[in-house]
Amino acid sequence: MERMDFVSECQRVFALNSLACTEAQANLLYDLTVRMLEVNQVMNLTAITDEKGIILRHYVDSVMISRDIPVNSRVLDVGCGAGFPTLPLAIFRPDLQITALDGTAKRIRYVDETAKMLSLSGVSAIAGRAEEYAQKGEYRERFDVVTARAVAALPMLSELCLGFVRVGGVMLAMKSQQAEEEIAAASSCIALCGGKIEQTVTAQLTADGENLEQRTLVFVRKIKNTPQKYPRHFSKISKNPL
Ligand code: SAM
Repeated sequence: MERMDFVSECQRVFALNSLACTEAQANLLYDLTVRMLEVNQVMNLTAITDEKGIILRHYVDSVMISRDIPVNSRVLDVGCGAGFPTLPLAIFRPDLQITALDGTAKRIRYVDETAKMLSLSGVSAIAGRAEEYAQKGEYRERFDVVTARAVAALPMLSELCLGFVRVGGVMLAMKSQQAEEEIAAASSCIALCGGKIEQTVTAQLTADGENLEQRTLVFVRKIKNTPQKYPRHFSKISKNPL
């Protein structure tokens, strides 16, 4: 797709999903798309390679949480992969300080270089495991908002993420389908790690007003400190979910 067509398609699809997208933001998304598809030829970044799919399933989906994040928040994106929601969120919310964390070093290098290419100065990127970083003093309970899209089921995800959230802050789990079973299975883990489910919001993404794709956002408020023993080593988290 040529730049001008991409920009107008982007603005059309964002508007259809009740999100504003300026020409400057759509231009940055175009630059991001060109870069991602180029790097995707040599590194596994995304299975979605058509521009329309990318606009809806990566960009609209990532930016949907923008209105739920308070101004100037310190945000951690756990398991950012190829930079979702980190990179689109940074384009739409330059006020945020976003730390992107992923266990795969080459994806983090890509996210870091891409953020610099797009002059997204609020983004920093760290290669590392969430369960290890959550035990480090400078990351523990230091974030206003912790996001995670398509990283793990909610019980495991809660243990991985809640140690990063300051008391009063929120973990925002981005799910691609209904999450009732996961929420029920996660309730004891969330309570043990100091959280409380505040609300669950479902949304329908669409590129044409007809074909709807369901998304679920789970908001977990941090109401007290996470006991130091959490998160445990990954082998324990996966063998014995809380
Ligand atoms: N959030 C991105 C997205 O929505 O496109 C990536 C999703 S990808 C399916 C899951 C990512 O989580 C992978 O890049 C993986 O390396 C990362 N991940 C899974 N468990 C992790 C952990 N314990 N610590 C850090 N990264 C982790």
